[in-house]
Amino acid sequence: MKLETLAIHAGRSPDPTTGAVREPIHLSTTFERGPDGGYPTGYFYSRSGNPNRTALEQAVAALEGGTEAVAFASGSAATLAVFSLAAGGRIVCSSDCYHGTAKQLRELLPRWGASVEFVDTTDLAAVKQALEPGAALLWVETPSNPLLRVSDVAALAGLAHARGALLGCDNTFASPVLQQPLALGADLVMHSTTKFLGGHSDVLGGVVVVREPGETLGRLREFQGTGGGVPSPFDCWLLLRSLATLPLRVRAQSAGALTIARFLEKHPAVERVHYPGLESHAGHALAARQMRDGFGAVVSLQVPGGAAEAMAIAARVRLFRRATSLGGVESLIEHRASMEGPASRTPANLLRIAVGLEHPDDLVADLDQALGA
Ligand SMILES: *Cc1c(COP(=O)(O)O)cnc(C)c1O
Repeated sequence: MKLETLAIHAGRSPDPTTGAVREPIHLSTTFERGPDGGYPTGYFYSRSGNPNRTALEQAVAALEGGTEAVAFASGSAATLAVFSLAAGGRIVCSSDCYHGTAKQLRELLPRWGASVEFVDTTDLAAVKQALEPGAALLWVETPSNPLLRVSDVAALAGLAHARGALLGCDNTFASPVLQQPLALGADLVMHSTTKFLGGHSDVLGGVVVVREPGETLGRLREFQGTGGGVPSPFDCWLLLRSLATLPLRVRAQSAGALTIARFLEKHPAVERVHYPGLESHAGHALAARQMRDGFGAVVSLQVPGGAAEAMAIAARVRLFRRATSLGGVESLIEHRASMEGPASRTPANLLRIAVGLEHPDDLVADLDQALGA
């Protein structure tokens, strides 16, 4: 089945007791056992399993072309679950990545005996070298946050597998609409469902999808149920509702982002634009091969004059909201370095734009007045 159909039907069926086409929200934390002590529905306690979570997991697994998905209360809980697989081992991670991911790897994983190295994953020779000392996990973000670097998932899978390591891919920026890392050879795909999958800036969540059944999946399920960082039934229901429109939203937002990136590239008050859809982007040819239907809805720009000028531009927008996050229907603009804090490696003159679903002409006009004042 095609993605658009899966987005609407995977994981869903009418409620067998009422015929309700949209599934009820199962708030009950506990489920009755059979007289024989068995679990006739498979559910017994909501931390271990809940019908709304099952439906969400089935839908996301179908969209990513994976075996199963394991849902968590946030994207960060999802990355931590994956990193727990490499406790005591070595983890190699993209140097340009979500700052919270880097923080987990720098601050939490060493407590679990893991050694961590950050490497530019667009440089395959550097990745090969970093994997040498018996890495257990290679973690890649592509396109990356906030510099929109593009890494070759198929090539990285080859390098990781040659060293006996798993390849995990944070697919938050692309969504399964634009990029399917499992088909390219990744073993695990993760999403902050807070972003495009949720799409309305009103639900926090995360998910990990595994390509094959087996020990890795079992350990993620154990981390989910025993670790307990699970999403609420209502959050799962909201996410499932949002998935139905995911293909339409992501394609329209990506088209808007391309329009905006092209506008910014020509604007005299802009020093540099980072967007894989631009021919000038170092990863454009790879992105065109590896992605489809668009290059994502996040655009970063650097402006002359440093942090103060970047802040001043963000202060002048009227339609964009000055806020962190991405993937929602409303467009956001953010001075990234000051959000990431003192450990940030993001250029001080960088603004990150998350393109929503407003008309691109209105967004361009707003940026034009903010840049030109
Ligand atoms: C937001 C984000 C995360 C973290 O997800 P939360 O839901 O905020 O915990 C991880 N990776 C990327 C690329 C993100 O944008």
